[in-house]
Formats: sequence, structure tokens, C-alpha cells
Amino acid sequence: MDNAATIAGWVNHADRALTTAWSRDALTTLAAQFVPGDALGSLGWLLRADAASTWARWYVEGMADIGRYVRDQELGLAHLYADLRSTLRAEHPLFPSDELAELSRVVASLAWKEVLHRRRGRRLRLTPREREEIWFRSEPGAHCYLCGYKFRPDAKGRFLRRADSRHADPPMLVDCVRPRGRVARDLDAEIDHVRPVAGGGDTERDNLRLACGWCNRVKSRYMALYDAPAWSPTTFLHPRLGLISLPQPLWIVRIVGVRGRCEAPLGCSAKLADAELFVAPRRLEGALNPTNAAVYCSEHDPWGHVRFVGPGILP
Ligand SMILES: [Zn+2]
Ligand SMILES: [Zn+2]
Repeated sequence: MDNAATIAGWVNHADRALTTAWSRDALTTLAAQFVPGDALGSLGWLLRADAASTWARWYVEGMADIGRYVRDQELGLAHLYADLRSTLRAEHPLFPSDELAELSRVVASLAWKEVLHRRRGRRLRLTPREREEIWFRSEPGAHCYLCGYKFRPDAKGRFLRRADSRHADPPMLVDCVRPRGRVARDLDAEIDHVRPVAGGGDTERDNLRLACGWCNRVKSRYMALYDAPAWSPTTFLHPRLGLISLPQPLWIVRIVGVRGRCEAPLGCSAKLADAELFVAPRRLEGALNPTNAAVYCSEHDPWGHVRFVGPGILP
């Protein structure tokens, strides 16, 4: 547990850094502060992990400009590795050569996955049979792997490109922080390419999942909470909750998709595989942001009665 003075000290330094955002002194002082765990809430691990993975992406791209390898199809992994190795050797002349080789290998491996990902692009061309296979693999209860939303029967027809498949009527009410259904595509089943995870062994096909159109669009190719702007940009007059700040949609997708289970204080077994999950503020007085977010099933959702609103009143 942190004490009040620790948290107050940290907020004070952050205040100075934010008000003098271009002052090196204030920023280096803040950077030297220990961030109190209590202030990060129960998702502190995700906040720290996403910051670390963002730094790793910058580190790797700062070693080798990945865009060049994406554009120039002649360049392969061996070129990338050789380039990285000479950059790293120049940077760290005192590293023993076996350790340097291993570092180059690890950096090249991460960078190469990104190169392949960008070369491939997001458009996946699958045959009708492959689409069918993906759908039937997810039966029964085909759902979005990021939010748990169960697809309606009309989504299946469109996913399988059946000629007679029309959109069913849009929903009368949508979740105010995840307004899925304002456009018809939101409710569609789409294919998301989950990135290959470290450890390897995943075949292409195992990396394809069904995502709802809303999650897929919001997630786009973002990887970390920090890929969304840091402040809640919009306030909204909710008919029951009053004025509330709407969270960045990427936060919602990321938090539900990674947490993946209901966090009801007394315990609950609901998981993404079998239930749609929602995000609500842990402290109802506070804004729904990554330090104040919790994941709930519909039964334990403290906003259960109020989160759904007519789509027309949302900004
Ligand atoms: Zn979804
Ligand atoms: Zn629950």
C-alpha cells in the first residue's frame, strides 16, 4: 500500500510536468519518481506492460527502419539481421559477440514479424471454404473474441457471403461506451488476424478469429492502450448518469479483450468465451479510464440498467 504523501508527491510532480509540458527539468524530475501502484488501479499491470511494449516497438524500429523492409520486397530476414547486427555492434562495441548475436536475433525476430504483418496488410483473401471453416470452428455460439458479443443469425449469412443475407434491424439501444450497432457493419462478423505471439508455432489459420465489426474497426492495428489519445475527449449528457466523459474506444476494446473475465468482487466465472463482457468505472464518481476500469458480465455490471441508450443521443 502506498501512503497518502507518496501519491500526493507524485501527483504534484506530474502537475508540474503537465503545466510546463516543454520544460526538461520538470519532466526529468517526474521521470525519476516511483509511480505509486495504488494510483494505477487494478489494471496497473496492463498500463505498465503496454508502456513497455510501446518502448520496445520504438527501440526496435529505432534500430532498423522497418518501413524500408516493408517496401523493398527484395530484403529478407537475413538482410535485416545483418543490418541490425552491425548497428548493434557500433552501438555496443563492448558486448561479447555471442551476446550481441543473440540480441540481434531477438530484435530481428520482433522486427521481422512487424515487416511481414505490414507487407501482408490487413486484407485477408480467404476462399469461401476457408470462411466456412472459420465460422464452423467457432460454433456453437460464434462470438467476438474481443468482447464476447454473440453474433445474430443474419451475421452468419453475410459472413458466408450468402446472396440473400440482409442486415437485420439495427438495435434500438446501444452501450453508451461501446456503441456497437450505430452502423450496420458493427454487428457483422469479421476476421481479425491475431498477431503471432512470442513462442511461435502458431499457424496462420490458428491466428484468425471472429471479431465484431465494432471491435475490429476500433482495434484496427493498434497494439497498446497508449495508441489512443491520453484524455477522454468527449462528454455526454446521459439521461440517468448525468454528464459523463466517454472513454477512448480503444481502451474499452483493449481492457475487455485482455482482462477477459468478469471481475465481480465476490467472484464470477463469466469469461469471454461464454459471455459478453462490459466495462464500467470501478469508482462510479470517476471517469471510465484505464486506471478506473473494471470488466463485468451483464449480471454484475453496475451500469447494467443504464448503459444502453438510444443511439441518436450519443455525440
Ligand atoms: Zn466485439
Ligand atoms: Zn459476473
